Amino acid sequence: MDEKYQLKEIKLESGTYNLIPQIEEYLINGKDLEPEVENILKTYNTNVSLSEILQKRGYDSVMARFIEVSEDFDFEDIATAVQAGLDRAQTLNPSVKLRGSPVVFLYFPNNEGAKSLRGQGCALNINDFCGKSLTPEEKRRRVQSSVAHEATHVFLKQLGVKPSEKWFNLKTFIWDFLWEEGLTTTMEVDYEDWHYSFVNDADYYIELLKDWLDPATDDSKKEMLLQQCIQRPSLLEWLSNIGMSIDRIIPDTDDIDRKFIFLMKSMNGFGYHIGNVLWQRQLDAGTNLTELVMKGSGEMSKWLDRYQSLP
Ligand SMILES: [Zn+2]
Repeated sequence: MDEKYQLKEIKLESGTYNLIPQIEEYLINGKDLEPEVENILKTYNTNVSLSEILQKRGYDSVMARFIEVSEDFDFEDIATAVQAGLDRAQTLNPSVKLRGSPVVFLYFPNNEGAKSLRGQGCALNINDFCGKSLTPEEKRRRVQSSVAHEATHVFLKQLGVKPSEKWFNLKTFIWDFLWEEGLTTTMEVDYEDWHYSFVNDADYYIELLKDWLDPATDDSKKEMLLQQCIQRPSLLEWLSNIGMSIDRIIPDTDDIDRKFIFLMKSMNGFGYHIGNVLWQRQLDAGTNLTELVMKGSGEMSKWLDRYQSLP
């Protein structure tokens, strides 16, 4: 994937960092960001920089929201939830100690949530949980959940079972995605309402995934499947909650598989939640979590094939 910015390695030691005061200085007094902070922000969002957003949306509107959000942010209080999230990720394999990595709180003026900074740690956008009338307990749960999700990515890498990011083919990409993001989602502790709508509609999405990967499915059938999918009530509920139109999710391209991938993964799309259902099935059948994790993503095709709806 082409990227505008040449990413550098993040050199922060493990620990919990509050970048908000420095971002505030930058926004209010125009003080330059430290190179490491700038690098973290660019790793967080590789498509658009803070200064480009200021230019595009106007300083006043960005600042008004920043003040609202930062006033609702209590670093000392929220930092306690970070350890709870790390503890949860540790359960993936209790016999190997999860290596420490930095957890940073930053502000980005969009509705993106937590990210693993390319497997180097965890970045939490305070815009994701502040300024939304959540109680302190609800904010801590959101942060615990996000840290557990991102630390899972980091831990999988450490354990040597993180699926490759290289593109082999569509099947492997989809199986690996369902495996990894299904697991990260399983480790979360706090879900949006539309998560449950996807889960309740899992039979449909699993049939859709199987049909999509069936070699007999040609492009015209895929076009039909895609059109049906974007009218599914569970999908419409998700779109309306994230406040986006389908045109902003699906790229304008002739590559139908590419459209499908974006629909499945952008903005915490259905792939995360259906992956979670597939993991939950294995766990409910009594298979040990650590055993499943250490086997890696290779069995996802079987999980899909053997999926049966519950009575
Ligand atoms: Zn993830």
